[in-house]
Amino acid sequence: MKSSIMSLAVTRQHRVAAYAVAGFILCVVLATLPVAALAEPHIAAFLPLFAMAVFATEGLTAYLLWTQFVITRGPFLAALAGAYAYTSVTVAIQLLVFPGVFSASGLLGTGAQGAVWIWAFWHCGSPLLILAALFVRRRFPVPVAQAKTRLVGLILVGGPVCLSLFLCSLAIHGEALLPKLMDAQTYQRLMYSPSGRGIAIVSAFTLIYLVVTTRLRTLLDLWLGVALFAGLGDIVVTLVANSRYSMGWYLARLESVLASSTVLGVLIWEISHLYRELHAANARLSEYASRDGLTGIFNRRYFEERYPASLAAANAEQRTLSILMVDIDHFKRFNDTLGHLRGDECLVAVAGALQASLRRGADFVARFGGEEFVVVLPDCELEMAARLAETLHAAVARLAVAAPFTDAGSVSVSIGVATFYPGAPIPAAELLAQADAALYRAKEAGRNRVTAWQGAALTLRSVHAH
Ligand code: GH3
Ligand code: MG
Ligand code: MG
Repeated sequence: MKSSIMSLAVTRQHRVAAYAVAGFILCVVLATLPVAALAEPHIAAFLPLFAMAVFATEGLTAYLLWTQFVITRGPFLAALAGAYAYTSVTVAIQLLVFPGVFSASGLLGTGAQGAVWIWAFWHCGSPLLILAALFVRRRFPVPVAQAKTRLVGLILVGGPVCLSLFLCSLAIHGEALLPKLMDAQTYQRLMYSPSGRGIAIVSAFTLIYLVVTTRLRTLLDLWLGVALFAGLGDIVVTLVANSRYSMGWYLARLESVLASSTVLGVLIWEISHLYRELHAANARLSEYASRDGLTGIFNRRYFEERYPASLAAANAEQRTLSILMVDIDHFKRFNDTLGHLRGDECLVAVAGALQASLRRGADFVARFGGEEFVVVLPDCELEMAARLAETLHAAVARLAVAAPFTDAGSVSVSIGVATFYPGAPIPAAELLAQADAALYRAKEAGRNRVTAWQGAALTLRSVHAH
């Protein structure tokens, strides 16, 4: 079972879906550019909604990447989690200081340039940290040592978070140190400043670097590429939009949401994919665990789990339950004369004949051990069980497995039958002991027959001519 998003190869469907999303983003960007600067109404609820969406999706992505890191210990995943944590924290702080959201000029005593500088640090820092994560992957491709996992994780995630806090503080309180990017609601200066171009170049470079170095071969790389492409679209449209609350400004924010949700989307897809695989693997595992390796019928373990439960259910529902102990006659001689391989073949044939003779869904046969089988028959009275035992006995006889050393000339079985009757509760082991005692009696009486337990007196059901 694949265990990490990094090892999942890209399928054709994924590639088509990723290119379709990228194509959609490109269309939105191209369609927006000519009308990006159009002034639109100021929708007060828009920014908090958008920021919360980005904050939550980036935070969740960081968390899921972190859990993957803890499992696989690949430092790349921790570094990428750090990049997403950086964005999540930065967006949250931008929301606090954005003018008109919590207060007219923004919280934390921010100046007029605070929010736009936080935007710049977000859109520059985020691709740079992804770039750094890609370097980490190239430089440290192997998992980190178990003992160092927490420390490495803490550095790779804590570092970007501290960087975000530092840069946001700088944006909020260090207005005097930073160039001016905004005039009233217009950030035209940003577009023509080295900062604006730098941000677009960093974003484009990271995307190109990712495509060239990875060829987008894994699922994570592919969708990271889409996220970076959406991020680049966000930057271009924002810069062209020129001012807050313009058509481009609104659409760029939607691109941000798209950029932040792509990797989250694929992580969620991967989790549900792994969950399906896990479910199937579990089902296979419990099937293996309950089957006998040689004959393929249920094993002793399954019997010991199911039989007491069936007996308890019979007791609770006031129904009968019968069990049959089936033992191959003279099997030691069979092995000694014909060899163990033929002995194994005989066991497989007998198990198949017993299994094929059961008709009701609740009935089951299990290999009890060696050449002994046990059949559980819920809702079955002694008479009916003894008749079914005869049927099983005949089915084995019909196999006509040659056993020249016996009088009959073919392999036979002896069967002991015991029945639980409602109103007379009996421990599971005791009912089994009754069937075993009946079997012992059948052996004593000459084998190749069915014997039923009826109270203290054992009844001989049938004697087959030797
Ligand atoms: P009885 O008629 O009294 O039941 O005699 P028996 O020889 O069948 O009984 P016994 O318990 O003396 O011998 C059981 C034999 O079953 C011994 C062992 O070699 C054989 N046996 C048990 N498990 C396997 C198996 O998985 N494969 C093969 N080939 N033989 C097995
Ligand atoms: Mg035997
Ligand atoms: Mg035996």
